[in-house]
Amino acid sequence: MDNQINQYREPGEGAITFALEYTKGLTKQEAEPIIASLLKGELHEVSDKRVKRCDYCGYWWRDESVRNTKKTCSKECKTGIKTLQRSQQRERKALLNPPSKKKKRRRADDYVWWLEYPYWLDEDSMLRVTERFEVLSEEAFIDHVASNGAIYGIGNRKKTNRQGEF
Ligand SMILES: [Zn+2]
Repeated sequence: MDNQINQYREPGEGAITFALEYTKGLTKQEAEPIIASLLKGELHEVSDKRVKRCDYCGYWWRDESVRNTKKTCSKECKTGIKTLQRSQQRERKALLNPPSKKKKRRRADDYVWWLEYPYWLDEDSMLRVTERFEVLSEEAFIDHVASNGAIYGIGNRKKTNRQGEF
């Protein structure tokens, strides 16, 4: 089992040069079976470490560089793989830190409500948030109604002050 690359891209210069070594001067018909074997990696000497598959276009090519450390068959493939790597890095980054809508932190966010015994991270937040939702005590409620009733009366019409008329 070799690590067969299943994806081919537009063959780079190096891949074409390599294929031409085997097919130069042949008709298309003659070249076809040779190309097929070439793609399977059957034509070159397996021990030849200079012959490798381009990391980008996926075709076989011969690395003529002094150190034999190139990974791609051409400048275009090198650029292609860099572009690919950059977009993969972006994807990975996005996956790790999903772009959060920059939401303004609210005081209610200081309430750790999902625990069995919820608690506040910040006492000031607790006081400010709870006072808004505080249920009025019965006494305070009666006072509230009474004082509003004194002003508005039934039907919410503001009472005119007729005290002086009596
Ligand atoms: Zn290539």
